[in-house]
Amino acid sequence: MGELEHKYEVEIKQTEKRQKLPQNIKEELKASGMMDDKGKLKLKGVSPKMLKRMKQEFVDCPVFKEEIQFIQCFVCSNFQSRVTGKVLCKGDSL
Ligand code: SF4
Repeated sequence: MGELEHKYEVEIKQTEKRQKLPQNIKEELKASGMMDDKGKLKLKGVSPKMLKRMKQEFVDCPVFKEEIQFIQCFVCSNFQSRVTGKVLCKGDSL
């Protein structure tokens, strides 16, 4: 199996802070059925335990040039996969 083509390997970091998703991201998640009306996330193949951990994670996004919560990164069109604490990111400008 060949390696996925990606431009960046972005380190995933942890925070103790409570992270809130921006409103526009919430709307996008709702529109694509990944969040219910109460704001509860429903990501396919992600267990509640994993989700809890994902909520404490973020990346220094090389495309948006700011800190992005892992959940937002996970649903980003540049997201390819997650390997050993890193996100493989396509790096297209968005
Ligand atoms: S996948 Fe999206 S949010 Fe994540 S690092 Fe790449 S551009 Fe940033």
